[in-house]
Amino acid sequence: MKVPLLDLKAQYQAIKDELRPVIDAVLESQVFIMGPKVAELEKAVAEYSGAAFAVGVSSGTDALLVSLMALDVKAGDEVVTTPFTFFSTAGAISRLGARPVFVDIDPVTFNLDPGRLERALTPRTKAVIPVHLFGQCVDMDAVLEITRRRGVPVIEDAAQSIGAEYKGRRAGSIGELGIFSFFPSKNLGGFGDGGMVVTNDKALFEKVKMLRVHGSAVKYHHRFVGGNFRLDALQAAVLLVKLGHLDDWSSGRQANAADYGRKLASSGLVARGLVVPPAAVYESGGDRHHHIYNQYTLRVKDRDKLQAFLKERGIGTEVYYPVPLHLQECFAELGCREGDFPVSEEASRAVLSLPIYPELTADQKDFVVNSIAAFYK
Ligand SMILES: *Cc1c(COP(=O)(O)O)cnc(C)c1O
Repeated sequence: MKVPLLDLKAQYQAIKDELRPVIDAVLESQVFIMGPKVAELEKAVAEYSGAAFAVGVSSGTDALLVSLMALDVKAGDEVVTTPFTFFSTAGAISRLGARPVFVDIDPVTFNLDPGRLERALTPRTKAVIPVHLFGQCVDMDAVLEITRRRGVPVIEDAAQSIGAEYKGRRAGSIGELGIFSFFPSKNLGGFGDGGMVVTNDKALFEKVKMLRVHGSAVKYHHRFVGGNFRLDALQAAVLLVKLGHLDDWSSGRQANAADYGRKLASSGLVARGLVVPPAAVYESGGDRHHHIYNQYTLRVKDRDKLQAFLKERGIGTEVYYPVPLHLQECFAELGCREGDFPVSEEASRAVLSLPIYPELTADQKDFVVNSIAAFYK
């Protein structure tokens, strides 16, 4: 039996007949840049995420970049974020000449620890980027209590968390700006790169829209230096079809997570120290939240050996992320050292993400759990 980390072919086969006509329609229209499909997707994603406005852009990375540009982040500024995330969260900050300032994570959620946030803010702080990692929201009330008091805007990096909920509010719509990625491996993935910026702030919306097309609202008249951050019509057409399935797919991931949780507990692995993610609907501080499991990430002992053992058995897993960002070569000039963010460093040694895609079968899940049990025996 083979269990890949992700099987996009299974998803494609299931919706192929729906996709072909909308792709053909774009080809017949020969409208490839922006156009009605992009506008339709923006409206649909704004509605889905509970935000007032949305701007389709070329990738999640560009969504971060253009959001920071909309907040006038530039050389000499500081932007606070987590070191335990995909590279582009901090990369986007650095590309504008600003300095990423890291705050260590909560050991349970892997998300930025709001209890450590205030100490990281300085008069140079231009923004805070909490990342809703793996499909689980950051404690946004705790973040916003600090940032609003200090007058610092928040960009939610919801690249992995479209549809995740924090106290009934959807990821991306809670801070001043939110970003999504449509990279193929995300819960809502296109046939290539794509992303979205969402906001409830009309002025930021207008500015992001301008920055997306070289800083112009009127062709050849440039108010800002923006870029080409546009979303393709073809991607929008594909994503509109897929958005209609997103809740089903997220439910499938949640059902798989529940299965894994049960099986891992009854195998005795949890009692022996393996740590599983929270339930799909979990409580914290008396409030309810929804995890959408872009990744199902365990904390395990002997991680590298377990990963090699599973690979040998045909089970795909991945380490998100093996090197925290403060220890990346390209950020050496920040002067961070090993030991500066110990919770992130420990997480980078212990995490392992299992296959969680909605089309997984019961046999595949059994095989994964039995294989993990076999390794520790
Ligand atoms: C995927 C991802 C991004 C970047 O999105 P792309 O569309 O790949 O550019 C940013 N942040 C996080 C947390 C991500 O997982």
